[in-house]
Amino acid sequence: MANEPVGPLDCEEVRDLLYLFVTNELEPDENTAVCLHLADCEACRTAMSEHVQMATRLGAVVRNAEIRYYGHA
Ligand SMILES: [Zn+2]
Repeated sequence: MANEPVGPLDCEEVRDLLYLFVTNELEPDENTAVCLHLADCEACRTAMSEHVQMATRLGAVVRNAEIRYYGHA
């Protein structure tokens, strides 16, 4: 995957990446692809919020996730 450009993602692919998205562990192109999908997909935005809450409970670093997507916490 690392050597291929990341194209438009479907929901299933985004769900696989969301935890890494909120913990800021994605490659930049993956991060961008997830952001593009979230902009158009309310269901995945809702799922992202759940991942943020879960990651927060686990003590993961999530401080940048919502800032990166929404532009603010
Ligand atoms: Zn989606």
